[in-house]
Amino acid sequence: MKTASDMGLPLVGVGLLYRQGYFTQYLNADGFQQERYPENDWYNMPVEIKTNKDGEPIKISVEMAGRMVAAQIWEVQVGRSSLYLLDTNIPENSQDLRNITAALYGGDKERRIQQEILLGIGGIRALRALGINPAVTHMNEGHSAFLGLERIRELMAEKQFTFDEAREALWPTNIFTTHTPVPAGNERFELALLEKYVGIWPQILGISWNDFLSLGRERPYDDHETFCMTVLALKLAAYANGVARLHGMVSRDMWRNLWPGLPLDEIPIGHVTNGVHPRTWVSSNMGELLSRYFGPNFDEAPTDLAIWNRIDRISDEELWRTHERRRERLVAFTRERVLEQYKRTGAADRHIRHAEDALSPYALTLCFARRFATYKRGNLLLRDPERLLRLVKDNDRPVQLIFAGKAHPHDMPGKALIREIVHFAEKHDVASRIVFIENYDMTVGKYLTSGGDVWLNTPRRPLEASGTSGMKAAMNGVLNCSVMDGWWDEAYTPEVGWAIGRGEEYEDTHLQDEIESKALYDLLEREIVPLFYQRGRDGLPREWIKMMKSCMREIGQSMSSHRMLMDYSNKFYLPALENYRHILKNDYKESKALAAYLSKLRQAWDSITISRIESSAKPVMQRGEILTVSALIELGPLTPDEIQVELYHGPVSNQSAVIKNARRSEMKAIGQEEHAYRYEVKIECDDTGFQGHTVRILPKHEALVHPYRTGFIKWA
Ligand SMILES: *Cc1c(COP(=O)(O)O)cnc(C)c1O
Repeated sequence: MKTASDMGLPLVGVGLLYRQGYFTQYLNADGFQQERYPENDWYNMPVEIKTNKDGEPIKISVEMAGRMVAAQIWEVQVGRSSLYLLDTNIPENSQDLRNITAALYGGDKERRIQQEILLGIGGIRALRALGINPAVTHMNEGHSAFLGLERIRELMAEKQFTFDEAREALWPTNIFTTHTPVPAGNERFELALLEKYVGIWPQILGISWNDFLSLGRERPYDDHETFCMTVLALKLAAYANGVARLHGMVSRDMWRNLWPGLPLDEIPIGHVTNGVHPRTWVSSNMGELLSRYFGPNFDEAPTDLAIWNRIDRISDEELWRTHERRRERLVAFTRERVLEQYKRTGAADRHIRHAEDALSPYALTLCFARRFATYKRGNLLLRDPERLLRLVKDNDRPVQLIFAGKAHPHDMPGKALIREIVHFAEKHDVASRIVFIENYDMTVGKYLTSGGDVWLNTPRRPLEASGTSGMKAAMNGVLNCSVMDGWWDEAYTPEVGWAIGRGEEYEDTHLQDEIESKALYDLLEREIVPLFYQRGRDGLPREWIKMMKSCMREIGQSMSSHRMLMDYSNKFYLPALENYRHILKNDYKESKALAAYLSKLRQAWDSITISRIESSAKPVMQRGEILTVSALIELGPLTPDEIQVELYHGPVSNQSAVIKNARRSEMKAIGQEEHAYRYEVKIECDDTGFQGHTVRILPKHEALVHPYRTGFIKWA
């Protein structure tokens, strides 16, 4: 939202106003996470209820399981952008409905479906009530995917369209971003719960219950499959992406069942790598320094990414002094926090003394702060206590560790990780060098991502879709040491940080922990610690500073949220907006034609047959020779230009018949022979080695954003 404001992008956000937010974390004397749910006081926060001209709150309502739920709308002004948050905590609703917006992640599946109906369906209604008419909608995670159904319902009512006509009209204006491969993030609902809550929707949309279910299923008519919100979003959006290059690949593989027969690299899920807002995450001290050297554009023209190339103008000494200042502030902040923690739990005086001299402002400081989900492996560094203690207890070249992060309230293994860290520090009497800060939030995050020296990240590849805290760190010159997962898989070079492993994936998680923890100790002992303590006569670690500069220069540009939003705009927002304008200008003519075409194609699909292929291929061909391939295709009721016929060709390995790095050449209809049409293409042989080719058929229609529609691909 901040980036949209900076860029003047006409974008609004929609979410829920959680009365209790997430939760406040504190640890008991045993290091076990406890949760508190303090209520937000909206009247002391920069949020405002939206009212009508009579000064009354604007309200919308949504049906849920036979009851009407009302919600009011709050606005958060984010610079020039607006974020609207729905709130069911109003007198019209009974107590259980008022609690729909009580807490993020607080409830059970029933609460989740209520929240998702409110967000998706209620979200669109809220925008309409505010007089905001979206051209394009961007579903961030499947949780908001019901919005696609509400938009279809509206258009059907407004234009008397069929479900298919409305769906095709909106498909080119929907964007979907998937944010995690972890199953809990890809919501699935049991059919009984779904029926209870959205059982009326098939009737509203004029489709059967089974057709409705097929929208949320990988195998459309498999009665054993639950209803998945990610699938719904993928089916309603013409544009879809993951949040890093690797995550795009993982997502294509994960959701390939939706496109049976389509090669993996063509599954229509791309990627836009996440980014962070530099002005939010660069510390005040570092920000002043950068402003001074980068000039006014650093603040005023944040899309001018090349400005980070000026980092070399800053002297080593000045950069290091600024960084050390941040480390001092982090140490002071941590001492204060730890002291509070000890006092609250009534710790012994011995402990309180620990807090007062916890950490050193001069020691190499490693930070690990993130959600304590088990796949992030917050305890990887503790695996070999002896090796860790040798690093921590080294008085000449000390290493200190700061941890922070919340476990999900129901995640007992996650909470066990936190306790393990606290116990480790106490048991080995290193509580002044290994510290856990309670209640990780943006304030804690800002101290850590700007005051540490190394940012640790140890997820089990490929479960970290992107990760963003390491980007915040990098922009402050804090060097990343991370498993090759998420964003780091594409950003890592030896000049900007360290890689744990080389991107391997393991079946045996125990073995993986063993190998990767060893790799991490090796990096620390052989590279990171020596580099940090390699000081010149002036006390500066010149080589380290050189890495800081490379890291800031590269990642400041590549992982800025302005780069991210420009990507979203160029790849998705602007094309989708263009689609919207075009569709409206022609009064939905093409969308209606597309719906009719797809219906006709569905009927005709099984009767399309590729009856013969003729190829001028010889066992050995020379480069530059022309290969002619033709195919006889029976079209049933279709005309020759209603399908896309392609020659699919490229290198194959001797062992498999799989064509790799395939190219596609369109085949043209050149004549009719009895019941069939002959399609032909000529290609020049321009590659060496073993080659293969085949013929395939895809849909073809001018209103298709892309031809990869579920179930429509046929191979010779
Ligand atoms: C940035 C941030 C996150 C997300 O960090 P990841 O690296 O993406 O896990 C979580 N919590 C807080 C408080 C943050 O500042």
